Order: sequence, then C-alpha cells, then structure tokens
Amino acid sequence: MAYLGKPAYTIAVLQKYNFNFRKQYGQNFLIDEGVLGDIIDKSGIGEDDCVLEIGPGIGTLTQYLAEKARHVVTVEIDKALIPILADTLSDYDNITVINEDILKVDISQIVKDHNRGEPIKVVANLPYYITTPIVMELLEGDAPIDSITVMVQKEVADRMQCGPGTKDYGALSLAVAYYADAKVILNVSPDCFMPQPKVGSSVIKLDIYDKPPVEVKSPDYMFRLIRASFNMRRKTLVNGLLGGSLGLSRERIEEVLDKMALSRTVRGEALTLEQFAELSDLLL
Ligand code: SAM
Repeated sequence: MAYLGKPAYTIAVLQKYNFNFRKQYGQNFLIDEGVLGDIIDKSGIGEDDCVLEIGPGIGTLTQYLAEKARHVVTVEIDKALIPILADTLSDYDNITVINEDILKVDISQIVKDHNRGEPIKVVANLPYYITTPIVMELLEGDAPIDSITVMVQKEVADRMQCGPGTKDYGALSLAVAYYADAKVILNVSPDCFMPQPKVGSSVIKLDIYDKPPVEVKSPDYMFRLIRASFNMRRKTLVNGLLGGSLGLSRERIEEVLDKMALSRTVRGEALTLEQFAELSDLLL
C-alpha cells in the first residue's frame, strides 16, 4: 500500500533516518495524497507500462507508481536516500533504484534493459534547478519515450507552452512544440511539499508526437539555429546567428531572410516553429 502521501508517515521516515534536506538537490517532497493521486490518474500509466522516475526522494511518488505500473526505474543522485528507499520500497518487487545523476545515465540502456527497447513513460516531481536540461535530454535524446508527466516550477510550465512574441518564448518552448503536445494538468500550491518551495508548481504532460508537426531536413541544425538566436535575446536574429559559431556570413543570412520575406532586423523571438524550420532548410 502506498502510504507515504500522508505527511505523518513522511515525517516519521525523515526522523527515523535523521534526514537533512539538501537544498542543492532541489529536495521538496510531496505530502499531498490528492496531488499524488491526480498525477497517477492523469499520467495515463497502466499495468503494462515501464515508468522512469527521476528523483524519488524517500519514495513517495515511487510507491504510487509501483501500484499501477508493471515496472518502475527510479534514478536518485543523493546517496543518503538509498538506504531509506530500501526501507520504504521494501514491499515492492517491481522497482529498480539507480543511485546516479540523471544527466549522466544512459536512458536508452534503461529502456533496453527494462522494457525491451519499447517506449517508456516518464513521471517525476523534478528537481527544479535542472528542469530544462532534463526535459531537453528527454526530448532530444534517442531513448524511446511515450509521454513525460512532470512537476515543474509554474513559470517553466508556462515557458513550455507559449508561442512567439511572448516574454517566456525560447528554445525550450520550441523544443516542446516540435516534439510534443503539451498540457498543464494541475497547478500545485507550495503547501503540498515538505519543505515548501518558494515558487508555485505545475504538473505538465508532454505527449510525444509520432511525427513532428513540421518537416525539417535536419532537426539538429534547426535546434543549433534556435539556440544561437535565443542566446543573445536582445540581439537581432542576424547578430544572434553570427555569434553562434555556425560559420554563416551576414550576406547569406540576409539573403535567406529576404527570401522568407522577413525583416533583416527581425528577432528570433518573433519566429514560429514553421519559420525556424524553413530558415534551417534554406541555410543548410
Ligand atoms: N519524488 C520525490 C517526491 O515527490 O516527494 C522527491 C522529489 S524532489 C523535488 C527531487 C528529487 O530529485 C530529490 O530526491 C533529489 O535528491 C533528486 N535529484 C536532484 N538532482 C538529481 C539528479 N541530477 N539526478 C537524479 N536525482 C536528482
């Protein structure tokens, strides 16, 4: 039975092990059964699924996932949590705990080892200090993934969902738009965590497309262009691309902008995903 969603149990476990929260690891543990239940329902996991969790903490969400899924692989960086997880997850025989940095593990290998290379689902209450690199790795890496349901800082959820011309629009918004259909499924208040984070949180679900909504010759090249154009936000697209070590000349970029009927002073933040795809194909 998943029991850690009750705050009293979380407190008892923390006291039993004299656990000290490590701020640098973004440790804010969930203590709200309603939120945990909603994450499980809305993530759409079923009894055939293999789930990858990032950062189990003391194993709260892990217990809920293990009740529903066929198998859960969970990756935790903090070695102080490993003996605690051995205790809190001892009733389950369908969980693999890996003591590693998620940014260093080979996720494709995990998928091969635990799901015969078939797409997995990712469900996690993410450590907020590395949300973007984790999500980018999940989207751009080659591990087969069906969906990603993650708790993130509310502002980051907004960034994942916004379009051109808004202040939050950037490389993350475009990566999400290219790879997935994104929906915020829950807003979560700080008092659902221990300790409470200083920011609001949202759970966002990214359903990975079988086929991206735009066709582009080289997605890698398009994302290099995108990163270069947002690296220097206040610069024009031309200056951003010139500073991006892409080996492009001003004349070449301006020629392509003219062809696309875009102003030579346009900024990257004004371009849609379709326009970045066209720009990429013309410059390649
Ligand atoms: N899943 C737990 C819950 O909901 O109560 C804990 C979530 S807490 C927001 C984030 C977890 O990620 C912590 O347990 C933290 O130690 C872990 N973590 C932080 N950085 C990590 C990394 N690079 N790789 C793996 N785990 C990490």
